[in-house]
Amino acid sequence: MSKQTLSFQAEVAQLLHLVTHSLYSNPEIFMRELVSNASDACDKLRFEALNDASLFEDAPNLEVRVAFDKAAKTITITDNGIGMSQAEAVEHLGTIAKSGTKDFMGKLSGDQKKDAQLIGQFGVGFYSGFIVADKITVESRRAGLPAAEGVRWTSGGTGEFEVETIDLPKRGTSITLHVRDDQSEYLSHWKLKSLVTKYSDHISLPILMQKEEWDAEKSEHVQKDEWEAVNAANALWARSKKDISDEQYAEFYKNLSYDQDAPLAWSHNRVEGSTEYTQLLYIPAKAPMDLWNRDRKAGIKLYVRRVFIMDEAEALMPSYLRWVKGVVDSADLPLNVSRELLQESRDVKAIREGNTRRVLAMLEDLARKDKAPETAADADGVTDVVSEEDKAAAEKDVGKYTAFYAEFGSAMKEGLGEDFANRDKIAKLLRYASTTVDTLTVSFADYKARMKEGQDAIYYITADSLAAAKNSPQLEVFKKKGIEVLLMADRVDEWAMSHVQEFEGTPLQSVAKGSFDLGKLQDEDEKKAAEAAAETFKPMLEKLKEALKDKAKDVRVTTRLVDSPACLVVEDGDISNQLTRMLKAAGQ
Ligand code: ADP
Ligand code: MG
Repeated sequence: MSKQTLSFQAEVAQLLHLVTHSLYSNPEIFMRELVSNASDACDKLRFEALNDASLFEDAPNLEVRVAFDKAAKTITITDNGIGMSQAEAVEHLGTIAKSGTKDFMGKLSGDQKKDAQLIGQFGVGFYSGFIVADKITVESRRAGLPAAEGVRWTSGGTGEFEVETIDLPKRGTSITLHVRDDQSEYLSHWKLKSLVTKYSDHISLPILMQKEEWDAEKSEHVQKDEWEAVNAANALWARSKKDISDEQYAEFYKNLSYDQDAPLAWSHNRVEGSTEYTQLLYIPAKAPMDLWNRDRKAGIKLYVRRVFIMDEAEALMPSYLRWVKGVVDSADLPLNVSRELLQESRDVKAIREGNTRRVLAMLEDLARKDKAPETAADADGVTDVVSEEDKAAAEKDVGKYTAFYAEFGSAMKEGLGEDFANRDKIAKLLRYASTTVDTLTVSFADYKARMKEGQDAIYYITADSLAAAKNSPQLEVFKKKGIEVLLMADRVDEWAMSHVQEFEGTPLQSVAKGSFDLGKLQDEDEKKAAEAAAETFKPMLEKLKEALKDKAKDVRVTTRLVDSPACLVVEDGDISNQLTRMLKAAGQ
């Protein structure tokens, strides 16, 4: 084929105009897009070669090279991936065959300002090269085609492009950007390398750059003939679980979180189905200093096919799990996805739900293994045979949940109000001290198992501190009757408990609220005595009501006190004393 001049499809011309005009504020993304294309091309070759190993020709080691020439003002990105035939170059670089771009074009309004905002939400791909270049030359040969069937594609990024046949002994693609004068900052080893580390560090192929050394005579850096990989190429999450050691998982966590301590637990999964992604999630051992900072973002890094997209992707985790660290690598999202688009995406919603389920499952697992396994005969009198290995594995996790809960328990409680769908699961994970247990270890299930005959509610009290809760006069009758009451002294307890009415069919009842009925726990005599007392003290109650009419809504005779003469309670459904104080403290 001799040199031909072709016109871009009308939509491409329009897209090009938009890309170059609207992405000026963030030109560096061209590196992310072009390196990711090079990496995609290598993935495609690897895939096709599964059926035809001869496609590797004599170069089985796939790699990407990034070079620049200061004098010629060019940046060249070369890969030895699948390459393009002449027809493919015309098709892929001259029309918008891609579905993402088509969607994008469909949404264009013609209003330049609106469209410029829109473009940030779509992958702009190859054409982003024109943000920094006034001319792009692509040379490519498809794997498996003869050397004589290479193609050179050239364009200034306006209406037209040229294609011609060239000889290309090496398969793959090189893309040369002729850098605009006002973008010359990219003609620098340091700059290009920093962009590779920023966006493409975890691409699993080596991304090579020429080494530089200082030339004293010329008094400038000169490039050596030696190439070195500048990316870590360590997408741990993309590897198979069985090839990763515990030490490697822990090391990766430290790099990810800047946390000195090893993580308490982690979970690594490839999720398939309508939304495909890989999740690697860690539970830290210690809460960060700013756990209670309202603006704190989630600890999840988002990648799309191993290309880094953003830190702290808060849309991928509910807020009460903001302390979870990890990586999500999506196979479906566009590279240019913005935070705004993340909030709306159905894929993202599916990922968030999957992440939440996974974290709760990890916690359930830790909670189950928290206590040392019974070694002696069980309740059934039969000693189970447990292998040494199983025993060691079970012992390894003893105490971890208690440690976790001391750090993150309060944050978990927010989930009661925040995550309706998982409320029951969250409630099972909560732990409290009680009037009979001093440590934060009593679950609602433990409590239920110990309930007295005739008791039909789980009783709890909220207060500013454990000591205040414990010594509250409202507990007197429970102490007398030997009924356990859960003690809640966390700032969030009051608010969190307002979102749960029951646990597995048993109502949750605050002992500081309303005129609740001890029901079957009260014997006949006590009931009669209470009724008689109410009658006897009626005139006195009237006087007290009158005297306190600006301060109290009602005055009642109570059976909840034993030693104290009086106590304050709030009406069922009203905001409690503690919550009132808390809201005041928060300035409401
Ligand atoms: P996307 O990567 O989302 O498909 P791009 O605009 O980045 O969109 O690239 C358009 C197409 O051009 C790619 O789908 C691919 O077919 C082709 N292409 C781009 N770069 C290369 C490359 N380095 N090697 C082979 N094909 C490429
Ligand atoms: Mg691309």
